[in-house]
Amino acid sequence: MKTLNQLVRPNILNLAPYSCARDEFKGREARVFLDANESPYNSPYNRYPDPLQLALKEKLSRIKGVPVENMCLGNGSDETIDLAYRCFCRPGIDNVVAIEPTYGMYKVCADINNVEYRKVLLDDNYQLSADAILAACNGNTKLIWICSPNNPTGNLMNAEEVEKVLRQFEGIVVVDEAYSDFTKARSWRSRISEFPNIIVLNTMSKAWGCAAIRLGMAFASKDI
Ligand SMILES: *Cc1c(COP(=O)(O)O)cnc(C)c1O
Repeated sequence: MKTLNQLVRPNILNLAPYSCARDEFKGREARVFLDANESPYNSPYNRYPDPLQLALKEKLSRIKGVPVENMCLGNGSDETIDLAYRCFCRPGIDNVVAIEPTYGMYKVCADINNVEYRKVLLDDNYQLSADAILAACNGNTKLIWICSPNNPTGNLMNAEEVEKVLRQFEGIVVVDEAYSDFTKARSWRSRISEFPNIIVLNTMSKAWGCAAIRLGMAFASKDI
């Protein structure tokens, strides 16, 4: 794997974290937060929420078996898909590789971010070949998209082939497990400490029946 310094877009690496009024006041009691220009009326909707969503992450941590520090929440997992492009892919320069057919949002977000999208057909059993995927990569390939169980084919991707991609690819491998609740197979989120280049996506939208709340999860190394 390349280092994250080599993989992350330079403008993202150079970001200074935005410090909100809430962060600056942490640990003290207050009834009004005039520095955030919130209304004192219409509780609780008048308040900006915790930007790190810690109370929610602690609950999810117990369900998912992943530490809070390895979790990033999105407005649906669709937002985390877009974030992966924005973190790693320089528009007009970098590319991504994905299995085909698969979930349509990877291509939509590639087009929005002006990132070349390379498709590698699944075989006649709808399985991926690690060698075919790796052969489609070049020095500017930043992300590989693997959806497992795959939408729309419904099958799990062969774990040995996925592991081969994880071990041999120099960039980030995103394993989208939107449908992992429907299978007894071990989730890749239990192996994030083994693979520094994996991002695993989960969602509340499918088996949990909560598409309306727009809650997606990304699990990865703390550094990612
Ligand atoms: C539905 C779906 C998503 C998006 O889920 P949201 O969390 O609702 O944005 C992501 N990946 C796959 C494979 C899906 O089928």
